[in-house]
Amino acid sequence: MNIALIAHDKKKEDMIRFVQAYKPLLSNHVLHATGTTGMRLETETGLSINKHLSGPLGGDQQIGSLAASGKLDLLIFFRDPLEAQPHEPDITALLRICDVHNVPAATNMATAEVLVNGLEQGLMDFRDLYGSEGDVT
Ligand code: PGA
Repeated sequence: MNIALIAHDKKKEDMIRFVQAYKPLLSNHVLHATGTTGMRLETETGLSINKHLSGPLGGDQQIGSLAASGKLDLLIFFRDPLEAQPHEPDITALLRICDVHNVPAATNMATAEVLVNGLEQGLMDFRDLYGSEGDVT
């Protein structure tokens, strides 16, 4: 599965702890991240991450492009709900495109726990039905 990991600045420590906790599971998947999140995760967890641009520079849109083209199966996005982001429209667009293409998306750690445990139990296998255009084949 292709999994994208994104965390706003005040949520990056949470993301690192989360990924460390699920490292054995996540290491079996293809991981993507926005630039700074990916750099921090590589340094602090040792996992290999496909790093895209930093979020404010277009990274969220790049992850959105993966979702639109059927190359994203799970999004874990620890948003900071208490701080305005300059790239808010990109964040909204990313979540919208995940909804369009039925990509499971967690925007907080509680939901991420549920989805990652679901991944472990094979509950994401329905994603195999989605083709390269991001639609059910
Ligand atoms: P970052 O981007 O990982 O480059 O910090 C995250 C975001 O703000 O969307």
